[in-house]
Amino acid sequence: MSDGLLDRFGRVHRDLRISLTDRCSLRCTYCMPADGVPWLKASTMLTTEELVRVARVGVEMGISEIRLTGGEPLLRPDVVDVVARMAGLEGPHGHPEVSLTTNGLRLPGLAAQLRDAGLTRVNVSLDTLRRERFTELTRRDRLTDTLAGLAAADAAGMSPIKVNAVAMRGVNDDEIVDLTQFCVDHGYQMRFIEQMPLDAGHTWDRNEMVTGEEILSQLTAHYTLTERGDRGAAPAQVWDIDGGPASVGVIASVTSPFCGTCDRVRLTADGQLRACLFARKESDIRALLRDGSDDEAVAAAITACLQLKQPGHDIDDPTFLQPDRPMSAIGG
Ligand code: SAM
Ligand code: SF4
Repeated sequence: MSDGLLDRFGRVHRDLRISLTDRCSLRCTYCMPADGVPWLKASTMLTTEELVRVARVGVEMGISEIRLTGGEPLLRPDVVDVVARMAGLEGPHGHPEVSLTTNGLRLPGLAAQLRDAGLTRVNVSLDTLRRERFTELTRRDRLTDTLAGLAAADAAGMSPIKVNAVAMRGVNDDEIVDLTQFCVDHGYQMRFIEQMPLDAGHTWDRNEMVTGEEILSQLTAHYTLTERGDRGAAPAQVWDIDGGPASVGVIASVTSPFCGTCDRVRLTADGQLRACLFARKESDIRALLRDGSDDEAVAAAITACLQLKQPGHDIDDPTFLQPDRPMSAIGG
């Protein structure tokens, strides 16, 4: 069945990103407006049985990595159970590796249970180390909770722990070295992300975006960086810091797209499959799950969705159209 994960351009898909909810405990300016967005209706949200069924079909087709995201995935009340069930799936590549991207706020209470359930690695979003700035950026005074979440993931033995920061001009671009040094000191891996046009307010401005090249030039002024070799399908280009083992990565989705090696496909919390973050078409898997269709039909829908995948996202092209859903409702 693994050919079902091949698209028209020969890319084999191994990474399934599942959004567990579109809700969030923060309101990051580059992601959500202050008042949030109209939430998905409860009746449209996939149940855990439904989520696990799609993941099982995907894993049987050759998916080997499952990343849980959102919105804030730790707001899903049964997230520990979801992790355990995803980690227990089995396909041609064995059990999938399960990871999670989170703002970290609920990690202090959940990290140990998540680790026991099979979550070995985690990405925590942290754009600043300064409390007032964090409050302005996320519209919530929760920096200490995110930091406690990171410490809890570490204490639970998760590894690697990656820290994601979206670099923004005049907002946090003076903290690129500070954030990196924080990660070096704690044994975390820093990842800077170029800001993408995925905010609900459609306020993205190319000139506000700090490019990967600018990030790198700040880092090279401070550290000796050695580029790591073949990154495979990974979105981050990674450099060893001062000979390693510490490293820093840059995800230059806009200025240096990695679409040619993309192996990702996304399932939204309301059961729509998207072949790309920037896809303008979705495939309605929820309808199949609820009309009595069998697993072959779900597998055929996954295959068909991948045939819609375009060669690239064209963000840098003037004709680029932002998708209707914001990042929080797609699953970052
Ligand atoms: N709430 C979780 C979190 O913040 O980690 C998971 C969902 S969030 C949408 C996933 C990742 O997308 C975060 O690292 C966030 O910084 C990133 N993100 C959100 N909006 C973005 C944008 N417009 N451009 C680039 N990255 C963005
Ligand atoms: Fe929430 Fe993550 Fe979006 Fe921030 S980036 S508002 S934490 S979903």
